[in-house]
Amino acid sequence: MNLDRVFKNNKQWIKDKLATDAKYFENLGEGQSPELLFIGCSDSRVTAEELMGLGPGEVFVHRNIANMVISIDLNVMSVVNYAVEHLKVNHVVVCGHYACGGVKAAMQSADLGLLNPWLRNIRDVYRIHKTELNAIPDEEKKYERLVELNVQEQCVNLIKTAAVQKAARERGLKVHGWVFDVHTGELIDLKIDFENILESIREIYHLD
Ligand SMILES: [Zn+2]
Repeated sequence: MNLDRVFKNNKQWIKDKLATDAKYFENLGEGQSPELLFIGCSDSRVTAEELMGLGPGEVFVHRNIANMVISIDLNVMSVVNYAVEHLKVNHVVVCGHYACGGVKAAMQSADLGLLNPWLRNIRDVYRIHKTELNAIPDEEKKYERLVELNVQEQCVNLIKTAAVQKAARERGLKVHGWVFDVHTGELIDLKIDFENILESIREIYHLD
């Protein structure tokens, strides 16, 4: 890839934006108040804003391999805290995607070095849902289901945090689990039962 292309594209983008709104960057420079925190995979095919048709200033984004929400990952936890407590987003989305290389790697028995502890968290999702997953004979279907269950478990991890529990109580913040189908471009709402999960984990994980 010729990186000059990137800077050329940038100049064209500025032109296009100013053509429709002369104050576009002036307004952008004034600050942000996004409604949505999007936690997605780093995969180059999952373009957060583009697939939702949103622009700069509309969504706070965090991406990592396989869209994980791990309680001791200072990076994702800082993003969640900042978005929920300071930017006061009202929706937090975990968005997985079919054909996720991170999830695929976790399904195979291979030593991937530094990635082992990261992918271990996906193997834990497999262990929790082993009965359901092992009953799926088709490998591709099993892989897709693990992508969905991983999203669900990362939503549960979000609901375990004090920031999310507090914001849910104080202003009705909601957590959503979505999957992006890279084969069709479709965004699928897994319809995670946020209220029920919050209620059921309260017994053990209640923080606020
Ligand atoms: Zn992925």
